[in-house]
Amino acid sequence: MPYPYNKMTQEDFDAIRRMTDPGRVWVGDAIATEYFHDEMPNYGTYQPELYVEVLNKEEISAIMAYAYERNIPVVCRGAGTGLAGGASCKFGGIMLSVMRMNKIFPVDHKNQTITVQPGALLLDVQAAAKEEGLFYPPDPGEKTASIGGNVITNAGGMKAVRYGLTRDFVRCIEAVLPDGSIVNFSSNVVKNTTGYDIKDLVIGSEGTLCILTEVTLKLLPAPNKSCTMVIPFHSLEECADMVPVILELPFVPTAIEFLERELIDMVEKNLKKPLPVSEGEAVLIVMYDASTQNELDTAVEMLCEKALEHGAIDVAIADTPERADSVWSVRGGILEAMKAESVAQEECDVVVPRAHIAEYVRIAKGIGAKYGICVEPCGHCGDGNIHTEMLRPAGMSDEEWESGTHACLKELYETAKRFGGQLSGEHGIGNGRLEYLKDFIDPRLYRLYQAVKLAFDDKLILNPGKMIEFE
Ligand SMILES: Cc1cc2nc3c(=O)[nH]c(=O)nc-3n(C[C@H](O)[C@H](O)[C@H](O)COP(=O)(O)OP(=O)(O)OC[C@H]3O[C@@H](n4cnc5c(N)ncnc54)[C@H](O)[C@@H]3O)c2cc1C
Repeated sequence: MPYPYNKMTQEDFDAIRRMTDPGRVWVGDAIATEYFHDEMPNYGTYQPELYVEVLNKEEISAIMAYAYERNIPVVCRGAGTGLAGGASCKFGGIMLSVMRMNKIFPVDHKNQTITVQPGALLLDVQAAAKEEGLFYPPDPGEKTASIGGNVITNAGGMKAVRYGLTRDFVRCIEAVLPDGSIVNFSSNVVKNTTGYDIKDLVIGSEGTLCILTEVTLKLLPAPNKSCTMVIPFHSLEECADMVPVILELPFVPTAIEFLERELIDMVEKNLKKPLPVSEGEAVLIVMYDASTQNELDTAVEMLCEKALEHGAIDVAIADTPERADSVWSVRGGILEAMKAESVAQEECDVVVPRAHIAEYVRIAKGIGAKYGICVEPCGHCGDGNIHTEMLRPAGMSDEEWESGTHACLKELYETAKRFGGQLSGEHGIGNGRLEYLKDFIDPRLYRLYQAVKLAFDDKLILNPGKMIEFE
């Protein structure tokens, strides 16, 4: 057996209770089933042997040192909104929740940073920056995710086109290693060439290398103005071909998203909220941020002109915050609408070079049709991260759905690889994409991943069996 862990005993339960507080420890059947999985239960539902809510890094350090000594696996849990099957206890052991560690320290204006504990919610961090006239740009769709979860999965989101990913906003990290030691990766400096950049390695490591206990995030001056436009096209190809045209304009868009008609109808029905355009087989949603009205008006005018030149049916401008929010709520409602409208869903999170978006989307739909599965590509076309959603049609048997999605995923990954893309753009590998990673990357690279894991976690006790495997 690759992971020969100790099963937890009454003695272990008592030890963890002594390190924390009996009121914050649950064992066996007293653990709520919501902690058995993340937002994708089909990527693994596993019962922890013990669930503990920690209050500080010292508690985490003590628990990790104990687990290391006793050879007990530990999984750190944030808000559980992950879409990769990451926050689940595949080998039992301890689930450690950091959600009570949610302090947001005052904004450091001189350094333009904010320091927060990992359990702070993204929406609270964004609001705290805004209150001080500053801006935390990373904007993944789920605002109730924890900031620790965002950092450790390197969450992306809509605004990556202009501002980048969560990684681009992390100045420094404090973390607990699997043996219980507390370390700092970097400090609150703008530049750093002091040795290997372990901070950037830890970001996106999906809870397999260390447990984050505090992060310091870079802030920007808040943009004063913004505008969202909805641009319908007669075909998906026209819609996708517009993306490079937008990127060539002299203004960098904040977001470029796309949705096809079928999906729009589904979300509008579920949300009971329409987009401001009713025509077109596919629409682009484009957003600009600017520091002056003049700059914004020029960007919008140029885009309208180019869009109409390139076959857009119309350009609807959502020029008030309320109208813009309404448009973005349709984009944000995709996952819920799909859950409401289909028996089951599967997701592929590939990212392809922007030049291949249209071709990838066309092939993806063909692959779905071959296996009788409705494939709905949508999402962040500004950065090539195409969420290729698969919906189970009514009447399809469990076996047909399982073998169909498996075959679909294999072909979708092969297609992305052929185009020079990557297996996951933002949701990560976790448990759900584990079996596909090995085929996707070079074997030498896989061995490097394993060596990195072992350098941090020689006993493989932290979130084992996720992201990479050992045989
Ligand atoms: C509707 C919806 C929309 C979404 N949109 C986006 C999007 O646009 N972009 C995007 O990137 N993601 C998106 N997500 C996915 C999800 O919100 C992100 O992956 C998020 O970063 C997960 O944070 P969490 O706190 O929920 O982490 P969890 O789900 O609790 O955990 C995720 C992983 O991180 C580890 N982990 C969590 N906290 C810590 C910590 N403090 N230290 C070490 N490891 C830790 C866990 O072990 C697990 O492996 C979306 C999810 C939903 C449901």
